[in-house]
Amino acid sequence: MRIEALCTGDELLTGVTTDTNSTWFQQRLLEHGEQIARTTVVGDVREEILEALRTLSGRADAVLVSGGLGPTADDLTAEVAAQAAGVPLVIHEGALAALRERFAKRGLAITENNMKQVMVPAGSEVVLNPAGSAPMFILRLGKAVLFFVPGVPREYRALVETAVLPRIDALRAERGETGFRALRLLKTVFLPESHLDARVRPLLALHPRVTFGFRTHFPENHLKLMAEGRSPEEAREVLEAADAAARPLLGDHLFGVDDETMAGVVGRQLLSRRETLALAESCTGGRIGDMLTDVPGASAYFLGSAVAYANDLKERWVSVAHTTLVENGAVSQMVAGEMARGARRSAESTWALSVTGIAGPDGGTPEKPVGTVFIGLDGPDGTEVHAHRFHGDREWVRSASAYAALDWLRLRTRGSAS
Ligand code: ATP
Ligand code: MG
Repeated sequence: MRIEALCTGDELLTGVTTDTNSTWFQQRLLEHGEQIARTTVVGDVREEILEALRTLSGRADAVLVSGGLGPTADDLTAEVAAQAAGVPLVIHEGALAALRERFAKRGLAITENNMKQVMVPAGSEVVLNPAGSAPMFILRLGKAVLFFVPGVPREYRALVETAVLPRIDALRAERGETGFRALRLLKTVFLPESHLDARVRPLLALHPRVTFGFRTHFPENHLKLMAEGRSPEEAREVLEAADAAARPLLGDHLFGVDDETMAGVVGRQLLSRRETLALAESCTGGRIGDMLTDVPGASAYFLGSAVAYANDLKERWVSVAHTTLVENGAVSQMVAGEMARGARRSAESTWALSVTGIAGPDGGTPEKPVGTVFIGLDGPDGTEVHAHRFHGDREWVRSASAYAALDWLRLRTRGSAS
């Protein structure tokens, strides 16, 4: 079946808002065994919306129309939909009652323009909005079914999930189209795409109902598994079989699935072991701390980061000895070790990671070329330092350093605390 999307809103055409609704819908639709044929974006312009509704209803079986159901003057969608269908707008009593209740709860008076939100094209099916004032409505136009939902992402998702996708499933079943999909991302780190591909290649013939896709987000590489089945349960079973076969091939490079992040996984492990982490960062400039604090609840295990960029601050903030700096240089095994020890001692944390390196483009020497990075880890078993040589530009070296540090701790904190 042919499914299209129509997004309305000036903000989508002026660089103000990114159309994240559509990417989310595309993913959900994929899991329901369908793919969107085309997405059209128009501004809050009557003629543009009308023409799009006519064109799309002429060629699609189902259309998801979003945005423009609000109370303001630029919200035109319901009006234009009624025009396209050749019917008047009518007040929907159920939606009006829900609106009254919503406003009464908040002690607000209903204004004239709020009434606009409960007007729908006559003859349409209405689904009340659990998260907002404007209901969604469903209209047949030509051979197409049109679903009209608000653009506000929270409302959009709730209604698409509960009212649109089940109806699309039903339409597909009527047409004898019954395929479903199940998706999973297996996320690896420091495994080049070509190596990832080579490792999983033997699985392709063994799992013909699974599509294997690859995505690179340096230094992560993701393996995307898309399984097909005649029911959601069957798709899930096919997926689990491929997942179980793929995992051993990825080894320690596999750090997470789907929405999991490197910092989130490290955090979860620290939390379960009731351990804490402090950092002393030089060339990463606070990036590791940034990655860790991106995760809600990080305060339960992350104590802080000393961004000790200057030599002087490496001495004063994380107790690197002056002679160590003079004798070895800031980018050295010894300094990385002392930074980690100093950070751990001053934070009284279970673990401390340190990073000192040459991110480039300048500052390299024959002995220590650009990309030379020392990462220190101080913990219950003492201090260790890993020397790395990353090949790439400044951004690459900094990113790789941050990941290498977190990944090291990830591997060290797997399982329960000793
Ligand atoms: P409202 O009652 O807020 O006016 P509405 O149904 O009229 O609801 P819009 O005016 O189109 O919806 O958009 C409401 C909010 O949702 C805006 O902040 C807009 O930026 C956001 N939004 C709209 N469409 C999208 C989209 N496709 N992706 C992400 N955000 C969107
Ligand atoms: Mg609006």
